[in-house]
Amino acid sequence: MTTTDQTLPSRTRQWLIADRPLGRALAATDFRLEEVPLPQPGEGQVLLRTRYLSFDPSQKGMMENLASYAEPTDIGSVMPGQGIGEVLASRSPKYAPGALLRGPLGWREYAVLDASRLEPVPEGVSPSLALGVLGMTGLTAYIGLLHVGRPKPGDVLVISGAAGAVGSVAGQIGRLGGCRVIGICGGREKCESLVRELGFDAAIDYKSEKLRSRLRELCPGGIDVFFDNVGGAILNDCLARLAPGARVVICGGIARYNADPRKPEQVPPGPQNYFGLVHTNATMQGFLVHHYLEHHATAMQRLTAWVKDGAIRQKEDIVEGFENAPRALLRLFSGTNVGKQLLKV
Ligand code: NAP
Repeated sequence: MTTTDQTLPSRTRQWLIADRPLGRALAATDFRLEEVPLPQPGEGQVLLRTRYLSFDPSQKGMMENLASYAEPTDIGSVMPGQGIGEVLASRSPKYAPGALLRGPLGWREYAVLDASRLEPVPEGVSPSLALGVLGMTGLTAYIGLLHVGRPKPGDVLVISGAAGAVGSVAGQIGRLGGCRVIGICGGREKCESLVRELGFDAAIDYKSEKLRSRLRELCPGGIDVFFDNVGGAILNDCLARLAPGARVVICGGIARYNADPRKPEQVPPGPQNYFGLVHTNATMQGFLVHHYLEHHATAMQRLTAWVKDGAIRQKEDIVEGFENAPRALLRLFSGTNVGKQLLKV
């Protein structure tokens, strides 16, 4: 085993799933902190010190076993999550101590993982970028917008959840492609920052403005591409303003993440305005970023070039301290986060 000069830790703190937040809002009491002995890395494994954790609304679905693409969880199991860790000890020829690796670390201060489940943080890329625009967040924005939304120069692109991690990147990609970009998000400050800092053409505060009338003013010819992270009433209002041949991209639906999908009375009714799709020959399509693996390498090359030349900026929101991991996840559901939610351990 190769190690750094530091004394290796023998114990780790970790956050466990204490309850499933199915059919209700996530609560701090859904998590439990414990300290346990740390195993020694076996053959092909590395011992990592977690540096950053990444947060995504789908982690609530993982706690509820509703995320079809994720490994099932149990009450009492370690809270799943992507992160970046530094190798402290290695029994894998792939990685030496000191390497920074990205992967499913879970909410643990130290973790022993198979090297095959990890990948190196690219040279010259900061950990926060590697978990944000140059990670799954950026890939989701790129694939959803360019492969599903297929915008053309001059198109009107509307994005919900626009000040969040995925939405803020999708909007900037749309601007680079010559779209007129309108963001929908909660709060005046978020709206101002989209226009001033990220180059959006306009932004609508769905909490204080009348969405339908603002869409009428800002999109007189209709919406060509709607990139939806929210669902619910926002999706419904946008469906009533589609342009001929519009594409509606269903990326996420955080407005329904507190409902139990097995209880119809909890799930918001389908969008009343779906018939707008008929009159405009529009399409509405969902996607999962993992289903477009063949496009990831090209997407990552282009995103990296855009970030390097300053064409795309990452807004990030960094909470500090491992004990604050539940609080960081809760921020996504109250809309407290601006841009990519991360935690520095
Ligand atoms: P995020 O947008 O950074 O954070 C969530 C944001 O949602 C909050 O900041 C809040 O912003 C908004 N929000 C929360 N509750 C809401 C509600 N009830 N109604 C309206 N808005 C609400 O999160 P993200 O990581 O970028 O993820 C965005 C979406 O993409 C999520 O739905 C996620 O599940 C989805 N996603 C999909 C894929 C895929 O492959 N399809 C991959 C990754 C993520 P406001 O201030 O605007 O309210």
